[in-house]
Amino acid sequence: MKKNKAFKFRIYPTSEQKVLLGKTFGCCRLVFNYFLNLSTKKYDEEKITLKYKDYALMLNDLKREKEFLKEIDSISLQQELRHLADSFNNFFKYKKGYPKYKRKAMHNDSYSTMNVNDNIEILDKKYIKLPKIGKVQCKVHRDITNDYQLKSATISRVPSGKYYVSVLYEYEKEPISYKIDESKILGLDYQMKNLFISDNIIKTNDDFLKLYTKNEKRLQFLQKTLSRRQRPNHKKEIESSKRYEKQRIKVAKLLEYQKNKRIDYYNKLSKEIANQYDIVVIEDINMQDMAKESKLNSKATYDNGFGIFRNMLKYKLENLGKKLIIVDKYFPSSKLCNVCGYKNELLAITDKTWECPNCNTVHNRDINASINLKKEGLRIYNS
Ligand SMILES: [Zn+2]
Repeated sequence: MKKNKAFKFRIYPTSEQKVLLGKTFGCCRLVFNYFLNLSTKKYDEEKITLKYKDYALMLNDLKREKEFLKEIDSISLQQELRHLADSFNNFFKYKKGYPKYKRKAMHNDSYSTMNVNDNIEILDKKYIKLPKIGKVQCKVHRDITNDYQLKSATISRVPSGKYYVSVLYEYEKEPISYKIDESKILGLDYQMKNLFISDNIIKTNDDFLKLYTKNEKRLQFLQKTLSRRQRPNHKKEIESSKRYEKQRIKVAKLLEYQKNKRIDYYNKLSKEIANQYDIVVIEDINMQDMAKESKLNSKATYDNGFGIFRNMLKYKLENLGKKLIIVDKYFPSSKLCNVCGYKNELLAITDKTWECPNCNTVHNRDINASINLKKEGLRIYNS
């Protein structure tokens, strides 16, 4: 069974390499936007949808017209076109959003390139060789064995100005035979404010909240200063834009720090859970729907990254031969009494506890929901 694994390393390009990377980001953005515009016109005027091979042919013409496109890694441009073709496919086939133009002001740049005849290589655990860019200093903090085949690399520059490379490998994995113990089951009820709650691990919520509120005051202060600096000052425009840039980097660095802390936390937590349980049951929650439903809480929904956590958990469980079971979002996990099965249609979203009118059990809303998830998960597992 072929499996993929990606490693992300920080890279330290020289100033010359930074210039070339900047050019590559720019050319990739230009090509992506150029063909997005062309595709939109073609579709509006002639109802024709362009495919990757159409783009690839037209790219040659564009390169003759814009000579500077020849200076950069040609595979990176092809990858942009594949990415655009995929975006259109997702739009038409899976009703995902219409492809968006790439904006320069986002300060979030990246491009991907593929390994062809070892043109991408990790050297002496200290460098990575990249097409056109050459040997870039790289902090390789993982041991990569020889049976891992390097497939592609994505080079990125984040808002704080740091550079990273994410290297994708393919390897052969023997199917795992693991005997699942059905009693080692965990039901996780998603919570907007606390990540999640369960009938036997609640302690994690406090850890998460601590992490969430830490630095929040400082971030607010920095962002306030930033928005003040954004106001144009015609007399000293250059000076003020420098100060703005400095402040923008301060904000970006703190955001990055917080994000990394949270990712570390999700990693640790998902590892702990995957080691301890054989079956984990969660609700199928659409993060975007949740955010729309309650505008007030949208920040928390995106911030707590339940989606990221869920993916990590799935990956770690599957690697051990265990199961993540996703329960339909219409399953009334909160409304059912886990003792007698009575369905409480009157349960309001604000009810934290309720008494079952049928069997008189007093329920904590969330713990009851996680027990129901466990039962439903087990039913799905055995069906
Ligand atoms: Zn009951």
